[in-house]
Amino acid sequence: MLGIFPWFVLCLRFSLVLALGGLFLCWVLSIPNQRQLSLINRNMVVFYGSQTGTAEEFCGRLAKDAQRYGMSGMSADLEENDMSELPRLVEIDNSLAVFCMATYGEGDPTDNAQDFYDWMQETDEELNRVNFAVFGLGNKTYEHFNAMGKYTDKRLEELGGRRIYDLGMGDDDGNLEEDFVSWKEQFWPAVCEHFGVEATGDDTSIRQYELVFPTDINMNKVYTGEMGRLKSFETQKPPFDAKNPYLATVAVNRQLNQAGDRHLMHLELDISGSQIRYDSGDHVAVYPMNDVSIVNRIGQILDADLDTVISLNNLDEESNKKHPFPCPTTYRTALTHYLDITNPPRTNVLFELAQYATDPKDQDILRKMASASPEGKGLYQSWVLDAQRNILAVLEDMPSLHPAIDHLCELLPRLQARYYSIASSGKVYSNMVSICAVVVEFQTSTGRSFKGVATNWLKNKVVVTDNGHKATVPMYVRKSQFRLPFKASNPVVMIGLGTGIAPFMGFLQERGWMKEQGKDVGETILYFGCRHRNQDFMYQQELEEFEKVGVLTQLNVAFSRDQEEKVYVQHLLKKNNEHLWKLIHTDNAHIYICGDARNMARDVQNAFYDIAEEVGGLTHTQAVVYIKKLMTKGRYAQDVWS
Ligand code: NAP
Repeated sequence: MLGIFPWFVLCLRFSLVLALGGLFLCWVLSIPNQRQLSLINRNMVVFYGSQTGTAEEFCGRLAKDAQRYGMSGMSADLEENDMSELPRLVEIDNSLAVFCMATYGEGDPTDNAQDFYDWMQETDEELNRVNFAVFGLGNKTYEHFNAMGKYTDKRLEELGGRRIYDLGMGDDDGNLEEDFVSWKEQFWPAVCEHFGVEATGDDTSIRQYELVFPTDINMNKVYTGEMGRLKSFETQKPPFDAKNPYLATVAVNRQLNQAGDRHLMHLELDISGSQIRYDSGDHVAVYPMNDVSIVNRIGQILDADLDTVISLNNLDEESNKKHPFPCPTTYRTALTHYLDITNPPRTNVLFELAQYATDPKDQDILRKMASASPEGKGLYQSWVLDAQRNILAVLEDMPSLHPAIDHLCELLPRLQARYYSIASSGKVYSNMVSICAVVVEFQTSTGRSFKGVATNWLKNKVVVTDNGHKATVPMYVRKSQFRLPFKASNPVVMIGLGTGIAPFMGFLQERGWMKEQGKDVGETILYFGCRHRNQDFMYQQELEEFEKVGVLTQLNVAFSRDQEEKVYVQHLLKKNNEHLWKLIHTDNAHIYICGDARNMARDVQNAFYDIAEEVGGLTHTQAVVYIKKLMTKGRYAQDVWS
């Protein structure tokens, strides 16, 4: 059993810190609400840099595992802790700092890891051999795969930290869950060896939260879907952000395509009076609601009264996270607003649920899928991931599985906001944020219909409901680096695929507005790729109008499926190679790419290498360096999603 940091040392340290002028200054200067690391009464702190909640979830799992190894673990938000105190963790006996670092966008830190990243870059503090390990969360389809995980791992070592176990690199394009489980399988033995501890007991289920039924319920104190402050949807107060979204009314919701079996949509969210400002290229985050029929069905299978008011309270009183989601609330609100019930559950959820299966065969299957054995991993891949079984499908297909609803609510991950590239210009439409999206719906191999949470919820938003109410959407704006050139006279080349046209609608509106202001606006070229002219040529009228009035100097469209051979944007790029090379090499053009990250972004980049080689006379290596340089200068920007 490892020793934990004794309280008397804490008190001693507190007075020591007060006595030391310099340290006292740093104490006073630290950002309010940030916890002093030296006050953490744990020997394993798992920090997360998380954007969509997965890194946070993994941290929680590692911290929970710690108990099985006789360690006291705690998961911690990088933003809520004073990370400049990291070197002081060594003062805690046998301490270990673990980092689950997600990489966001083009190799960037997540919002909550930004300050820590800046600190790592600037500091020359000696880490005093602080024990550390890093697990990175990334996606191989992006150029800067796991940049944050790699940087943190390297930098902590440079600063004098002691790596306890090798960097883990999760790939969301493959199987992130499997990567994490495999890393964890090796990580714990390394920890045991380093600290001379052993796994204690077996893999028993440990609850993190206790279920409490509040007495004297005052419904005014019960959360009904707010992200932070209670009643924040009734009394809206700026500034609006992730914890305080703005309830925008839906002013327009129209289908963009007349034909085809997909539903492409354009929405306009009214933000007047919100003080929200945005630039072309920014993203809008939307908090969706889960499908009511799935929520009801879960309640029915679990024989639960969904309107029961509950609170799940963290048994670890020192944790910053008091509840898994805003509490008190009802099961219905939790399942509708706060929990992800659409994506396939992770292996830890299956493991914990196994205890509730009355059929030993079901128990075995669930435990096997949660194990690191090749057979278990294969079964999880095929039965859960490939079949896109969500929690409801798991419950339906394992009739002996009957978990306690409060435990299920504790285990399911948080429902995350969805990000869309804003399809309008804040300069032209300061009171409106537009979204362009395709409704996600397909048949799974079990014959169920998989419906994307946010797009289906948005699709059903009617502008004015039968009772005269306006439909609303909780949203906030997230700044991006995807920006028009500072000088309007610089040419721009925009490459948009499918709904990846979105940010370019904003760019075009803004270039048109600048033209109207009498500014010298450079060439504005669009390459748009979609499936069929008569089905997916989104904003055709608007684009042709932009071309007619000269805002768009060239409109190139690749209809991939209108002929036998595929025609893609890169084929059109290559046809215009000489002109493009002149724009890039001589005229300082900025290139923008938006759409699917998996293949398109790489293929388009290859097309630019080819142009640099064929017209610019560069070798392949020189071409790669050339495009890299453009990226560094902000002249080759990508807004790609996978
Ligand atoms: P889509 O209709 O599936 O695809 C658009 C076009 O791209 C099709 O003609 C497709 O051709 C073509 N394409 C496929 N592979 C390609 C490749 N390697 N190189 C060049 N072209 C290729 O697109 P979508 O359904 O609208 O989705 C586009 C992507 O943009 C999605 O991943 C979406 O998440 C993302 N996105 C959305 C937003 C937003 O705000 N809504 C913003 C940014 C990005 P074929 O299918 O015929 O092969």
